[in-house]
Amino acid sequence: MSLSITSSIRRSSPILPLLWVVLLLSPFTMNVSAQVSTQNGIGVGSPDNNNSPRDPDHLIDNIWWVGHDKVGSFLITTPEGHILMDTTSADEVHDVVENIVKAGFHLRDIKYIINTHAHGEHISGLATMKRLLPQAKIITSKDTATILASGDSRDTRSEGFEPVKVDGYIGDNEELTLGGVTLVAHLTPGHAKGVTTWGMKVKDSGKEYNVLFMGGLGTPTDPAEEGTLLNNEAYPEIVADFEKSFKLLRTLPCDVFMTYRALAINLDAKVAKLKQGGNQVNPFVDPQSCKAYLDLYEDRFTKQLAEEKKAPGAK
Ligand SMILES: [Zn+2]
Repeated sequence: MSLSITSSIRRSSPILPLLWVVLLLSPFTMNVSAQVSTQNGIGVGSPDNNNSPRDPDHLIDNIWWVGHDKVGSFLITTPEGHILMDTTSADEVHDVVENIVKAGFHLRDIKYIINTHAHGEHISGLATMKRLLPQAKIITSKDTATILASGDSRDTRSEGFEPVKVDGYIGDNEELTLGGVTLVAHLTPGHAKGVTTWGMKVKDSGKEYNVLFMGGLGTPTDPAEEGTLLNNEAYPEIVADFEKSFKLLRTLPCDVFMTYRALAINLDAKVAKLKQGGNQVNPFVDPQSCKAYLDLYEDRFTKQLAEEKKAPGAK
């Protein structure tokens, strides 16, 4: 599927009071917990940042971080409208809305909402966002769409998730095009069904770079909640999917490493460096971190699988 759309963009004055009223009407909430530490120059483990609001950050070319201190939401701007990737949770979606406006963009110019994967901290704010952006089309992988429509709390790892109906599907290697910007969807399931890693090109200081928004690589470790790798009744293909996804991700060009965790992409350090200015290469151009992230998660997957196979009763 190749989608394209034309429209005009106008920046406008903030309309925050109205937005707050709409947001307060949203009845759904969720709890988020996570663990983080720093390894190999990328942030993973514990303790993580908290969910505090932060101002929007212009990262590179037409890409903005409009999420909060911990979980990302990316705004990809074009002359003909914008694309929003992930909306964060129902509790934090207001930060995203506020940041889009603070960054100087108008909500009505958002043409598409896309997602990395259907876990609550990234998508439980989607229903609220859709109410605010009735013109925006929600485009996801088919498996993500199924989870979003079901509102299944096990699949979304989110209590009280409000189901959402998408406007269109995107398949592996298909493109979403708007205003001269093309996002390529790469289906990389495993962390969840339907995980989508997105690729696009940006320019910085006259050079072109490949951006990769990694869609999620962590393995399930709680048998009572999301299950484990082996004998996962809710997701029997999980091991095969992870293996295929790691293989595919190794082949995708990645100069600019993006993912939905602020700590994982060292957001604060890179933004601080960016603000220093000068002739440096944009700090988000960081192919090393891309590789380190893949290495770390593939290693974890391999070790966990080996451990599970050794456990009594494994098959
Ligand atoms: Zn997730």
